[in-house]
Amino acid sequence: MEYRYLGQTGLKVSRLCFGSLTISRLQANLPIAEGSGLIGKAMDRGINFLDTAELYDNYEYIKEAMKGRPSGSLIIATKTYAYSREMAEKSLRKALDGLGLDHIDLFLLHEQESELTLKGHYQAIEYFLRAREKGYISAFGVSTHHVECVKAAAGWDEIQVIHPIVNTRGLGITDGSIQDMLKAIETAHNKGKGIYAMKPLGGGNMSGSFRECFDYVLGISHISSIAVGMQCQEELETNVAIFENRPVDPEIEIVLSGRKRRLLIEPWCEGCGNCVSACRQGALYIQDQKAAVKPELCTLCGYCAAKCKNFYIKVV
Ligand code: SF4
Ligand code: SF4
Repeated sequence: MEYRYLGQTGLKVSRLCFGSLTISRLQANLPIAEGSGLIGKAMDRGINFLDTAELYDNYEYIKEAMKGRPSGSLIIATKTYAYSREMAEKSLRKALDGLGLDHIDLFLLHEQESELTLKGHYQAIEYFLRAREKGYISAFGVSTHHVECVKAAAGWDEIQVIHPIVNTRGLGITDGSIQDMLKAIETAHNKGKGIYAMKPLGGGNMSGSFRECFDYVLGISHISSIAVGMQCQEELETNVAIFENRPVDPEIEIVLSGRKRRLLIEPWCEGCGNCVSACRQGALYIQDQKAAVKPELCTLCGYCAAKCKNFYIKVV
């Protein structure tokens, strides 16, 4: 496994970052022993970087996975929607307690959009900067689906790390193309920001061409690490093989290609209907002010996901 420094944070992270949303109750809802076992296996394969969030509600899995391991063997990035000092303090306390740690490596503001939203969260930002001074966190950053946020964050000294969405089709980028995003990332990188990407497979919508998708993001030199959601050992072994530039075990590839996938519409769907009109199969409809899918008609093409500006549709 290759490791790279995350900007100027001093954190040296594996190029493959364990994206932990997939094991949580929002997606696979794995039993604690199974989810923590998977994280443990990832660490055994050389993955030393894990991405989580308060929203994922999965600190227990991570705490369990770290039991008996030397401290510092897993670099943890977590995220919060806090905008006030009090909310930020609560989030930090929840992470420290939930993970059983006295220090968090990287805290990010979740889903930031622009200069304006950064300013609106300034109380929380100030709190995290003080927490950094006191040694409760090592680094501070933002996660985003917005090109405008990457551009804005590049100019903020307070922000050390940016976690943007990057994939070949630009799926999930709310306000521009993948080219716009790459340009903004290059600027941020040149200003010393650490970059780790999310959703290289477009939230599972491009899983059919996973090798090409990974190769594309791995080829972007400004990106130190890529968070990839995994929920079973076959996915872990496949991802590690690709990141280590080794052939994928054909038997594992057969298991993965035979795995039944489904369309997931997040419960916070706002029922705007944009995805419904994008589906040529007639597989989507609105019910009780939320989008719903007829699985028998859905081909898992992922076109609807591109129409959801909030990225509430995924293939899992
Ligand atoms: S586009 Fe997104 S928010 Fe709108 S109905 Fe579809 S899933 Fe819901
Ligand atoms: S994945 Fe494709 S077929 Fe399925 S609901 Fe979305 S657009 Fe329709």
